Amino acid sequence: MYMTHWNQQARKALKGAKISNDFFNIQAFEDSKFPIKIPLEYAQLIDKNNPNDPLLKQVMPQASMDRIGFSQAPLNDEENSPIAGLIHKYSNRVLLITSQVCAIHCQYCFRQNFNYTKHDAMSNWSEIEQYLQADKKVNEVILSGGDPLSLSDDKLKKLINNIENIKHINTIRIHTRSAVVMPSRITSELANLLKLTRLKVVMVFHVNHSQELSAGFVQQINKLKNLTLLNQAVLLKGVNDHADTLKNLSLDLFKVGILPYYLHMLDHVSGAERYFVEDEVALKLHQQLKSELSGYLVPKLVRDEGKSSKSWLL
Ligand code: SF4
Repeated sequence: MYMTHWNQQARKALKGAKISNDFFNIQAFEDSKFPIKIPLEYAQLIDKNNPNDPLLKQVMPQASMDRIGFSQAPLNDEENSPIAGLIHKYSNRVLLITSQVCAIHCQYCFRQNFNYTKHDAMSNWSEIEQYLQADKKVNEVILSGGDPLSLSDDKLKKLINNIENIKHINTIRIHTRSAVVMPSRITSELANLLKLTRLKVVMVFHVNHSQELSAGFVQQINKLKNLTLLNQAVLLKGVNDHADTLKNLSLDLFKVGILPYYLHMLDHVSGAERYFVEDEVALKLHQQLKSELSGYLVPKLVRDEGKSSKSWLL
């Protein structure tokens, strides 16, 4: 279906206010500290006649507001990073910062101020390998970023081979939004690579709204049906903070073979204040989901509290 290589697709992304305003025929985009980046495949899903389009709202910067408790680095990743490029919060799993690049810039991004120059798992692999070889309790490696799928298939293959060589690691989990917003990234090479590894592969997509489930994405994920496919959404004011929107997201994900896993409360990063949803509202929405959906379609409502990701309701 995709005639253009994903690398070329990535180069066609809308970058900056002027090109974005021209594309959508509006004047509402303004350049900001966290630069605008919208892949064409995602931009084409946005209703140009709807200023409140839920996808548009995720990529359009707005002036930040004052809200107590918001800061540059709300997750204290540094405190949980024993060595560069690796974050270790839980005994059985570690997270690797594999790339600083994303196909899209989500304006609510919790890592928009992250020190990627210091934390690059790819360039610090030998130290990471020693760390993992020494800690036999770790059986799962989470590939994060940025977005791990911004790496080439060759680089991913090398990384996965390196992880495979650590005998007590049996699972890799790949967190990706690139696959959703730029489905051409799901290449046959990637699918084969994930099929052939001895590791159990869990793919966690980051879909926040049913409108993001494009025909292209649905077709491409057929290549990944042998993997465990989960979804993690962020609860965002003005984007998906309605029971029907969340319910439809769960149902639509299930239709295409993805199970809702997490519904994350917003991380309190400066610049993302307008997406904040109050705890009471979130709990009420979650209750509604529980009453209207089968249990396996209700994502866990969680908030990352720095040292641990606390699940509120099971
Ligand atoms: S894809 Fe994830 S890491 Fe990248 S900008 Fe969006 S929220 Fe941030």
